[in-house]
Amino acid sequence: MNNGGDNSKVLIVDDVPLNRKLQQAYLDAVGYDVILAEDGVDALKKVNEEFPDLVLLDVMMPKMDGFQVCQRLKTDERTRFIPVILVTALNEISDKIKGIEAGADDFISKPFNKLELLARVKSLLRIKHLHDQLERKVKELEVTQKKLYQLAITDGLTGLYNYRYFNEQLELELHRAKRHNLNVSVVMLDIDFFKNFNDAHGHPAGDRVLKIIARFMSNNIREIDVAARYGGEEFALILIETNKKAAAIVSNKLKGIVEDYPFFKKGAQANGKLTISMGVATYPDDSEDSQTLISLADSRLYKAKELGRNRVVMD
Ligand code: GH3
Ligand code: MG
Ligand code: MG
Repeated sequence: MNNGGDNSKVLIVDDVPLNRKLQQAYLDAVGYDVILAEDGVDALKKVNEEFPDLVLLDVMMPKMDGFQVCQRLKTDERTRFIPVILVTALNEISDKIKGIEAGADDFISKPFNKLELLARVKSLLRIKHLHDQLERKVKELEVTQKKLYQLAITDGLTGLYNYRYFNEQLELELHRAKRHNLNVSVVMLDIDFFKNFNDAHGHPAGDRVLKIIARFMSNNIREIDVAARYGGEEFALILIETNKKAAAIVSNKLKGIVEDYPFFKKGAQANGKLTISMGVATYPDDSEDSQTLISLADSRLYKAKELGRNRVVMD
């Protein structure tokens, strides 16, 4: 007979060998994977080792009775969703109440009827499997949600953060800086004559340049700083706990790295070079407001362009 045997693991707990044997025979016959425990202590040990899908739990046992075992299982985060059927000798209402209070999911009275036992086991296992399925789905959903969030804050081409994350993070960092009396610097960065580069080498080559510059940015800031692609060929940095002087050092270093890198024989400019211009604004020296800091850094970036490009403007 196959009465729903589905490889579910069932733990039988009973101090009387004959009772264990009888229940085991019933459950074995329909294909359940049966494990045995001979007292309450042994039961808790087996549950934690084997994580069964259901526990058939005798109430009257030496050392630790079924109520205590049930209570322990139902208060432990890892085992509380394992269904417990209490096997009571008497059909006492007071025992049932005690069992319900201990968290039991169902009862069966001794001497039990085989078909009733199998029906109760099957019904609780169905719920247990639905619960397991739900738990797996929730976990999958959490993973998907994390991936989606990463996608939502990442620039697809360069892998840097995007404009949205940059703005959110700048707000947070300014709050933190206010609380702890720290500096924060904002750097806006734009490639010089990038249109010429694209015209000379094509858009895909331009994209490769964007990726290389993004990598230079990531490699030259600390883990806590933020590098973002702010627009097409515009980038931005949040330099945490960084004053103007330190921000100038970071920016000029980056400018030098780009200037020295042999992108292509024929660069964006007549001399074959590819360069970047940068504007910097610092909290709290320049402003205490994120949008003002961004627009100040931006206007300094355009000042750098007017002054001849390939430079960093700090004020
Ligand atoms: P300037 O020194 O004044 O910044 O000159 P520019 O040519 O860099 O500035 P402009 O704003 O005139 O042109 C920006 C160019 O950047 C235009 C466009 O072809 C290029 N660009 C913007 N986004 C992308 C992108 O995602 N990929 C590539 N390859 N090029 C891009
Ligand atoms: Mg440009
Ligand atoms: Mg531009």
